[in-house]
Amino acid sequence: MDVYGLLGNPVGHSLSPPMHEAAYDELGLEARYATFEPEADDIEDAIRGADALGIAGLNVTIPFKQAALELVAPEDLATRIGAVNTIDFSGSGPPTGYNTDAIGALRALREHDVALEGEQAVVVGAGGAGRAIAFGLADAGATVAVANRTESTAHDLAAAVPRATGHGLAALEELLADADVLVNATSVGMDADATPVPEDALHEGVAVLDAVYSPLETRLLRDAADAGATTIDGAWMLLYQGVEAFEIWTGRDAPVDVMNEALRSRL
Ligand code: NAP
Repeated sequence: MDVYGLLGNPVGHSLSPPMHEAAYDELGLEARYATFEPEADDIEDAIRGADALGIAGLNVTIPFKQAALELVAPEDLATRIGAVNTIDFSGSGPPTGYNTDAIGALRALREHDVALEGEQAVVVGAGGAGRAIAFGLADAGATVAVANRTESTAHDLAAAVPRATGHGLAALEELLADADVLVNATSVGMDADATPVPEDALHEGVAVLDAVYSPLETRLLRDAADAGATTIDGAWMLLYQGVEAFEIWTGRDAPVDVMNEALRSRL
């Protein structure tokens, strides 16, 4: 029996267990996916202990993604982002750390036929998700403009991402006029029917991904649909970060439709 899991605090409402277990069932894998809630001071013991116990793989979420980077051998993309959300314990050396949030966002866009190479992308938000998405989009060949409520954080992120520029939210209207891709990586829209993007700035030439997945239909996505834009909800990003982790851990193609169904039936 292979044991996988999620390290975070809190993890009570995570959708990862049903999504991964649906994949194990579909492929007939003898595996289980558990959730673990260590205290902040115990993260090193938790990762070392998981390795010692033979746990096959862990996802890592808030508040441990940055600390985990220091406790594993991170892939280059995870190092640049500064956070690890997937750990693979299968090798003989130190566990390998990945950031599949970045890849999840890219796959969500590509699966909806959104071109990225040479395109203009606007990322709203410069927290954990914003960092991952900005680096991912730049690696995919897009030119990235980061806009954040705290403008200095956008400048700091832009300084680290190739070809990127940093802005405050007031620049969004101007940035969006020429944009091909827009990603909301703020938490705005999660708790209230609110959006960080002026409705009038949206147009049919921009594809809009909202990282927020609860609710699935955010005000931003409603405004984007009204403007004739392509819309991609946050469950696609959540799905593909899980798909990527599954494929890293098992070396098998993930049953994407089954995982998508398991996820969406719970949202
Ligand atoms: P985080 O590190 O705490 O960053 C929060 C971001 O939201 C910051 O840029 C912050 O700006 C901005 N923000 C918060 N309140 C705001 C407001 N009232 N107006 C404007 N900007 C505001 O959080 P995170 O981990 O990046 O997560 C951000 C969102 O992405 C969450 O909704 C999370 O659920 C979602 N997410 C989704 C996936 C997925 O797979 N779909 C994966 C990861 C995250 P300041 O810098 O100014 O504070």
